[in-house]
Order: sequence, then C-alpha cells, then structure tokens
Amino acid sequence: MADVVTVDGVARWIHAFREEVDSKATVLTELDSAIGDGDHGVNMRRGMDAADDALRAAVAGGEVAAIGPAFQKVAMTLVSTVGGASGPLYGTMFLRMATGLGSAVDLDGQGVTDAFARGLEGLRARGKALAGDKTMIDALTPAVDAMRSQVLAGGTLAAALAAAGAAANDGRDATIPMLARKGRASYLGERSIGHQDPGATSMALLIETAARTLGA
Ligand code: ADP
Ligand code: MG
Repeated sequence: MADVVTVDGVARWIHAFREEVDSKATVLTELDSAIGDGDHGVNMRRGMDAADDALRAAVAGGEVAAIGPAFQKVAMTLVSTVGGASGPLYGTMFLRMATGLGSAVDLDGQGVTDAFARGLEGLRARGKALAGDKTMIDALTPAVDAMRSQVLAGGTLAAALAAAGAAANDGRDATIPMLARKGRASYLGERSIGHQDPGATSMALLIETAARTLGA
C-alpha cells in the first residue's frame, strides 16, 4: 500500500462505498424504519450511484485531475441528488474535505487526517449535532481521533485508516444505547434508545471502505 492517497485512490474509494451502500441499502433502510422514515438506504443509494458515476466520468474525461475537485464533484452530486438530511450532511463533509487542497494530486497521512477533520467540522457546523446525540458524527468523531493518534505516533497511512475504520465501527455500535437528540429520530425521545443509528452505520461503512481502498 502506497503511503499517499491519489485521485485514483479517491475514485476507488467512492466506487467501493457505492457498492457497499448498494449491497447494504436494505439494512440502512431497516435501521431508518425503526427510528426515522425508512429512506436512508434509498437516499444513500441514489446519492452514491450518482456520485460514483459523476466522479468516474469526470476523471475519465480529464475534468477532475486533483483531489480537491474530486471531493467537490462528490459533494455537489450528493447535494443535488439526495432529498433527505443525509445528502446535505455528506455533501458538506466532502465539500469541506476539499477546502485548501488547491491542485494537490496526493495526500499523505497528515493530509488525509486534516481532510477528514475538516469534514467533521463541516458536518458539525451544518447539523449542529454534538458527540453523543446519536448521529453520523458518533462514527466520524472517533475515526478522526484514531487517525490523528496514529499519524502523531508516526504510523503509516494504512495503519491510520485501519485504526479509523475500527473506531468508526465502535462509534456506530455505541449509538445503540444513545438517546437521539438530532434529526427525525429525536422525535421518538426515549423510544430511540436501543436502536443503531442509520447515519452512523453508513458513516462507518464510508470509513471502513476508505481503509480498504485509499492509498492502495
Ligand atoms: P432524513 O432524516 O431526512 O430521512 P436520512 O434518513 O437519509 O435523512 O438520514 C438520517 C441520518 O442523518 C440519521 O441517522 C443521522 O445519522 C443523520 N442526521 C440527521 N440529522 C442530523 C444532524 N443534525 N447532524 C448530523 N447527522 C444528522
Ligand atoms: Mg430517513
């Protein structure tokens, strides 16, 4: 595994996440049926099918040759194709990940960590959720922390992403006993307790997929 992320790596990541979302759409929708309106799988599937198609076409056509524009392409496609809360939330995350990258064609472990940290900041600013509110933030926050610790300790990009994937899965599981304080699930109050958050579930898939594909 190379120790940098390239545009091709980003394209592989988005394609792999699309395939994960396609194969787990029913699970995501079932989770959202328990504490939301049962559309998370459909929302994510529509968004990621379009984002993957758009990114692949843009890379093949030479329209996207750097990492920032690749993230922006994903962001804009998600915002324009997903009606639910998750479209603008994931869109904001990718848009903020692109900030400041300029025409960079590769990112090392520190660069990847900084991008995910900016994405998390964007998500927080957009959704106003805090850690522990039972949202996708509860999977992304521990992932960014784990990535940062690995990079600070001199770990490789692969090690940092693997640690992030494991932490995101733990964060997803930790949403089960939480009381939802944001989004549709919050309307259920105490009845949201005991259910895994759908957005934290898709976020854990996104990070786990990054660990499998980025830098490869
Ligand atoms: P909708 O809630 O509009 O039907 P989705 O079902 O696609 O949209 O997405 C639901 C997920 O979005 C939730 O499981 C949660 O993780 C996430 N979410 C909802 N509101 C917020 C928020 N304010 N901040 C962060 N994440 C949120
Ligand atoms: Mg929903």
